[in-house]
Amino acid sequence: MSDYQNNANYQGAGYQNSVPPQGQYARPTKFCQYCGNQIDVNAVVCPKCGCQVGQFQQQPQQTVVVNNSNVNTIGMGRPRDKWVAVLLCFFLGFLGAHKFYEGKAGMGILYILTVGLFGIGVLVDFITLLCKPNPYYVY
Ligand SMILES: [Zn+2]
Repeated sequence: MSDYQNNANYQGAGYQNSVPPQGQYARPTKFCQYCGNQIDVNAVVCPKCGCQVGQFQQQPQQTVVVNNSNVNTIGMGRPRDKWVAVLLCFFLGFLGAHKFYEGKAGMGILYILTVGLFGIGVLVDFITLLCKPNPYYVY
């Protein structure tokens, strides 16, 4: 089978005299600027002399998807889970647990010393937290 095909190819090539001798280069070629050898046009490094002859094709940079929570984390405050804060406020509000959760250690200590601002602070915080979106952001 391969003999027959080779024979057919040979005959075909004989009829087509216009086929250039570099016909084995099916892909477009260029000449190495360093050694002058004909190389693949897409070659980045010349296979003959090893010199870099082209730029590495840059993969199209995938746009980093910045979701809203990340944006808020960077520039608009720290995201906090509403229901964690609500539960902390409800059960441990008199210890300022929800304040510590929000990263407000000073307020947390104040809540410990005053028992949640005498309970009023905890109550206000509890209602406030219930009204917040989830997640909410601490500034
Ligand atoms: Zn070369």
